[in-house]
Amino acid sequence: MNTDVLVIGGGAAGPTAAPVLARARHRVTLIDDQTYRNATVDEFHGFPTRDATAPHRFRADAVRELTSYGVAFVASTVTRVDATDRIVRVALDDGTTIAASAMLLATGVQDDLSPIDGLAQRWGKSVFNCPFCDGWEQRDQSAVVIDAAPGAEHLVGMLRSWTPNVTIVDAGDVAALTGHGATLDQVVLSDGNTIVATAAFLKAPVIREAHWPNTLAAKSTPPATSSPATAAQRATHSCGLPEMSADHHRHRIKWCSPQQTAPPPPSPFTRPSSPRAATPARPGDGVPGGHAGNGPGSHP
Ligand SMILES: Cc1cc2nc3c(=O)[nH]c(=O)nc-3n(C[C@H](O)[C@H](O)[C@H](O)COP(=O)(O)OP(=O)(O)OC[C@H]3O[C@@H](n4cnc5c(N)ncnc54)[C@H](O)[C@@H]3O)c2cc1C
Repeated sequence: MNTDVLVIGGGAAGPTAAPVLARARHRVTLIDDQTYRNATVDEFHGFPTRDATAPHRFRADAVRELTSYGVAFVASTVTRVDATDRIVRVALDDGTTIAASAMLLATGVQDDLSPIDGLAQRWGKSVFNCPFCDGWEQRDQSAVVIDAAPGAEHLVGMLRSWTPNVTIVDAGDVAALTGHGATLDQVVLSDGNTIVATAAFLKAPVIREAHWPNTLAAKSTPPATSSPATAAQRATHSCGLPEMSADHHRHRIKWCSPQQTAPPPPSPFTRPSSPRAATPARPGDGVPGGHAGNGPGSHP
């Protein structure tokens, strides 16, 4: 065994957990393949003492702190996990393996961006996911909510706390986003109409990059046998990770246990054809502290 705890993921969560483990005198190895959710963001907000900090600066500072506690860093992708009751062993994309007593997953999620012309280059610049993160800068401006997942109507309600000028459109009705550089001037619809806006908020599906919690849950069940399972039997419980494609397309994800292949529950939202006017605000709509996400009640 060459480390005590493996922390997989070096975005925000991994470097938050790692110092607690290191200060508890565990030998920690942090593995990260540097595909952060906020990779395109110039600065994040709402983090006490670090408001408007560039994410890369935050991570560099975190690495410096962790290095002082002896945390080891590996820049690589974990492609496979094998676990027994006593040991967890991860395989990296270069073929090497690392073993530890425990593993902490901080692998985050990715946003499944709609294939709208001009969207990808504006993601994190003038197209956002979360009004708590970027609503302040857009206060009293014209904003468009692009509906690509359940929860968009709720996002509209929340956004009204920052600006009354909110229009909602279905993602399928948006042809392009235009503006100088990464700024946004107009949302161009498929029928040729345009909406003037300085920001868009995309309600996108989120994709979990890796499915280890489910994978390991499936693996932790001993084989059905009347006699105590041997270490060898237990060690046969393993599962390849989902294919780690560059675009993290959700259809390429392989689940490891049958019950996890069930489709998600149906959305409580009806999806009228767009473009459409945002519904009038209701009492309680748009109260910061509410939630939006891939369904009612979840965070963006
Ligand atoms: C446009 C945008 C703006 C945002 N603005 C803000 C803001 O202002 N304030 C705020 O608080 N939040 C903001 N967020 C949210 C913030 O980015 C996330 O909450 C945060 O990144 C989550 O941290 P995380 O560590 O869980 O995931 P991530 O930061 O995504 O880190 C996960 C890490 O795990 C790694 N990883 C995954 N799988 C593997 C593997 N198999 N092998 C090795 N490494 C792996 C990835 O490379 C990645 O580095 C914003 C998000 C977006 C999209």
